[in-house]
Amino acid sequence: MSFTPLDQIKETYDVIVIGSGLGGLTCANRLASVGHSVLLLEHHFKLGGLATWFKRKSHIFDVSLHGFPYGMVKTCKKYWTREIRDSIVQLTDIVFDNPQFSLKTTFDKVDFTDKLVRDFAVARQVVDDFFATVNAMNFYDDDGMTTRQLFEKFFPGRTDVHRFLMEPITYANGSTFDEPAITYGIVFSNFMNRGVFTFKGGTDRLIGLMADELQRNGVTLCTRAKVDRVVVDNGRVVGVQVGEKLIKAPCVVSNSGITNTIYNLAGRQAFPEEFLDRIDKVKVNNSSCQVYFGIRPGETIPAIGDLLFTSTAEQFSSEEMLRMDTRSRTFSVYYPKTRPDEKEDYTVVASMNARFDDWAALSEDEYKQAKEEMVERCFVDLERYIPDIRDKCDWVEAATPRTFNRYTLHTKGSSFGTKFEGLDVSRKLFKALPGLFHVGSVGIIMSGWLGAINYGVIVANDADAYLRS
Ligand SMILES: Cc1cc2nc3c(=O)[nH]c(=O)nc-3n(C[C@H](O)[C@H](O)[C@H](O)COP(=O)(O)OP(=O)(O)OC[C@H]3O[C@@H](n4cnc5c(N)ncnc54)[C@H](O)[C@@H]3O)c2cc1C
Repeated sequence: MSFTPLDQIKETYDVIVIGSGLGGLTCANRLASVGHSVLLLEHHFKLGGLATWFKRKSHIFDVSLHGFPYGMVKTCKKYWTREIRDSIVQLTDIVFDNPQFSLKTTFDKVDFTDKLVRDFAVARQVVDDFFATVNAMNFYDDDGMTTRQLFEKFFPGRTDVHRFLMEPITYANGSTFDEPAITYGIVFSNFMNRGVFTFKGGTDRLIGLMADELQRNGVTLCTRAKVDRVVVDNGRVVGVQVGEKLIKAPCVVSNSGITNTIYNLAGRQAFPEEFLDRIDKVKVNNSSCQVYFGIRPGETIPAIGDLLFTSTAEQFSSEEMLRMDTRSRTFSVYYPKTRPDEKEDYTVVASMNARFDDWAALSEDEYKQAKEEMVERCFVDLERYIPDIRDKCDWVEAATPRTFNRYTLHTKGSSFGTKFEGLDVSRKLFKALPGLFHVGSVGIIMSGWLGAINYGVIVANDADAYLRS
């Protein structure tokens, strides 16, 4: 992929996209493919946002390629390329291991139904009714029910069943029992459609293919370009400021977080009072911690599953999952099949939900120590599945909410955008400030790889209509 240096870009574009997460990339691609001149500015030196990877020694570590729903196949075929679509493959070995149950599943409706009936002894009719209810959920018919109420209605008192149904979704989008049931139901049904999928060739290959397509469609890609300000004149967006440079455009799509976009890029003064009331109620979602394990070349690890939801906590609790010393984590195991065309590489990534404030409050010494303790906890847990893991590793590294904040600039290092109320603000942004659009993880539904890409398409349609009007 080739990038245009900041000093060589034009003075004016039809659209400027700030940020190259999957939402920003998709939006830029759609707008260019219908004929608009598009500039994409990314503050990091590479594209992808949270859909990212990094290299250490002989290893490539994927940060957010743990799994996405089958819907990606249709979306990538329609809005990206056939090559991207054809690289989407299923992960079949999903493991749950906690004090309440241990099982392996293909993570789809048929297998979940089977497990609920056989392993959890729930009546078949109740399971069918539950699936029918969540399948029928849609954004426009929110009846105010919470996920807790949904579970209590179908599986009263069955904390084991609640855990089975909820734990993966809490990892996937940070949602809790006390949020609207639709935010659970829509995401859960997406996965239950056919299971969990991944991208053959890894995140680096996906983003490389997307960059090729963006360039074929004429998008100007500029990295190491942090937008400082969205410039507003007479109540309309007229461009962006990057350092000393003003770049003009009647339409700006921000893939920066919604709170970042409003408070830091456009500024509160750019919005009407009644809109500010709504903005101030937006809560950002939680962040994450990760520990990356690289297996020494020549060593192998046994097939312990592709994705392991593990916990030694007695019961599921989204609060427990946010603690710095949480006993709940996922292990994503990347075997050589992840990148079949490259040298054999095994890596394991432990992921945990986390609160930015807990990590931000630490001094540098405390921070270093907290990271070491987290690595040790992950080693102890991983030894339950790979007893000689310590001897096999030649690289171990940790990331925290501070890391995610540094690389994406997201408020509080948010992993999945905002809670539910962020969606409405994001959707109505251009009505409050003509010319400014937001794309990216919001409202739990529009988050994750699939949500971010689909949202990119929706926002491209809005921006296209605005430009044509
Ligand atoms: C640890 C972790 C694991 C995850 N695992 C999964 C998973 O397995 N499956 C899944 O579907 N989803 C997963 N997700 C979520 C998923 O990665 C995100 O929801 C999705 O990638 C977000 O896309 P986005 O379009 O919102 O943009 P983001 O990826 O958030 O990117 C925003 C971009 O904007 C740039 N930017 C911000 N401000 C500026 C500025 N002022 N100037 C220039 N550039 C700027 C940032 O640098 C960044 O590149 C995970 C997330 C995390 C953190």
